[in-house]
Amino acid sequence: MLGLYLKNPSELELREYPTASTLKEDEVKIKLIHAGICGSDVGVYKGKIPHATYPVCPGHELVGTIIESGEKGSYEIGTRVVVGPNTFCDECDYCLKGQKNICINKGSLGVNMDGGFAEEFVISSKFVMPVPDHLTDEQAVLIEPFSVIVHALEKVNITQGTTVAIIGCGTEGMLAISLAHYLGADITAIDINEEKLAKAEHHFTGLKSLLPNNVSENAFEVVIEAAGVGSAVIQAIDIVKPGGDLVLVGMAPEANLPIVRIVRKEITIHGSIIYNFPTDFEKSVEFLSQKSFNAEPVISKIFPFKEYAQAYKDAVSGKYGKIILNFKEEL
Ligand SMILES: [Zn+2]
Ligand SMILES: [Zn+2]
Repeated sequence: MLGLYLKNPSELELREYPTASTLKEDEVKIKLIHAGICGSDVGVYKGKIPHATYPVCPGHELVGTIIESGEKGSYEIGTRVVVGPNTFCDECDYCLKGQKNICINKGSLGVNMDGGFAEEFVISSKFVMPVPDHLTDEQAVLIEPFSVIVHALEKVNITQGTTVAIIGCGTEGMLAISLAHYLGADITAIDINEEKLAKAEHHFTGLKSLLPNNVSENAFEVVIEAAGVGSAVIQAIDIVKPGGDLVLVGMAPEANLPIVRIVRKEITIHGSIIYNFPTDFEKSVEFLSQKSFNAEPVISKIFPFKEYAQAYKDAVSGKYGKIILNFKEEL
C-alpha cells in the first residue's frame, strides 16, 4: 500500500506502508478516492506548524470508500465517506458542552498523528460520515474545508444585502465567498493576487474585487480574514464599520493590533477554529447539495497521487485554489 511519508519538513516521499491486518472493533478501512491539500498540509510540509510531529503521513481532507470494518464498525462495506480529521475525546468540559472543535485532547490527522494521503488508511468509524450519492467526489472532498467556513460564518449575521469583505481568495476565502454569495451578501473580495480576484469576479455575479490598497475604511458590516497574515488582520480592523464583526479564519502568527481603534469602533472579533463534527459537516453537505450554491471555482487542479511532488509544489506556490490528489485507480 503506497502512501506519502513526510520524514522532516520538506522531505516528502512516496513509500510502501504495511497494510493493517486486523481492525479494532470500531475501526474501518478506507480506500481513498480524493484528498485535498490544505493550507495546514503546506504548513506541516514547511515546518511552520508548532504542534506538528515528524515523521508523519500527511493529509486530512479525505474521501474514500469503506472496504473493511471491525466488529462494531457502524457502516456497510462500499459506503462512500468523508473523514472528520480532528479527533475529540467526548469527555472534557468542551466536548460535553458540544464544543468538540476546542477539545483539550484534540488530535489532528496529518499534523500530530498519521493522516490519509495513502491508498488505504484505518480510522475509528466515529470519525467518518457517509456522503450522499448526489454529491460528486469533487464536491465531497470540499465538505471538510467548507465546514470550516460554515462554522466561521455562523458567528455573524449575514443575510440579503449585508456588506461583507473577504480578505484572501485562497481555498477558504473562496469558500467564504461561495457561502456569503449564496446568503445574498454584498461581497467585496480583497487579495494581492489579481488573477484570483478576476476569477472571483468571473464566477460570482455582483461581486466587487479590490487590491488591498484600494479599500476604504469603515465600509463593511462583516469582514472575514482568510489570508492569514498580520497586515490583513490590521486592514480588517480598518475596513470594518463601527459596531461590525470581524471573523478570523486565517492563521496570522501575530499582528500589532490598534486596540484603541477596536475599542472606539466597538468591533467584535471572533476567532474560529475548524468545526464541530458531524453537525457542521452535515450543514456543509446541505449547502453543497443546493443547485444555486457555487463551489466550482474552488478546485484548481486534480493530480494523480503519484504526481504528489508537482501537486505539493503548486500548493506551496500559493498561486492556486484547492489542489486535489486523485487516488482512484486509473482505468
Ligand atoms: Zn484542511
Ligand atoms: Zn474533549
